[in-house]
Amino acid sequence: MKLLIVEDEDAIAEPLAEGLRREGFEVERVSTGEAALAMPEPDLVLLDVGLPDTDGFSVARELRSRSPVPIIIVTAKGEEVDRVVGLELGADDYIVKPFGFRELLARIRAVMRRTSERPAPRSSRIGPLELDVRGRRARVDGRELDLTPKEFDLLALLAREPGAVVSRAQILQEVWQTTWYGSAKTIDVHVAALRKKFGDPSWIETVRGVGLRLHVPGTESG
Ligand code: CA
Repeated sequence: MKLLIVEDEDAIAEPLAEGLRREGFEVERVSTGEAALAMPEPDLVLLDVGLPDTDGFSVARELRSRSPVPIIIVTAKGEEVDRVVGLELGADDYIVKPFGFRELLARIRAVMRRTSERPAPRSSRIGPLELDVRGRRARVDGRELDLTPKEFDLLALLAREPGAVVSRAQILQEVWQTTWYGSAKTIDVHVAALRKKFGDPSWIETVRGVGLRLHVPGTESG
């Protein structure tokens, strides 16, 4: 399990990272909000409120707008914080410094237990595209797209992070559960079909030599 520690104080972050590694977690640590938002998505985020470039609440809000990744907000005693605000922003729990390592570990495990039972978001909206993940339906400007199961899986994968390039290897692995590159042509066939069904080929951009990304026509991507 991958944990991301967002904490600017080495004296707190270093022993914490070490302790969590000993417990078997894979731990990455960053010191700023900007760096936290640039990291690949972990399985859980430990997020300090007092960061040098921004506050943990804005980072929580941004992370939450992208994905349901579990977030535990960490705050110093006496810091001006509002537990309710933190939780409304989508944090899953809240812990006050100084805290004991065992207490934190118990919180992490409790949050992981709760969130693993959380259903996937019912639907997401990306510009005119509406994706009903559980119902496996997609609409553009209210018009339903008649997609095959693999076309839907491919679209849902690209829609996880609009504008981000998804490699062909990742697509093959997640949509077709294969790493056999000979089947790469399959991706092209499905992309062509998706573009046709969207009625606008610019929805799915080919990034030569890298992969594919979802792009809302009429907006800047990247
Ligand atoms: Ca801090």
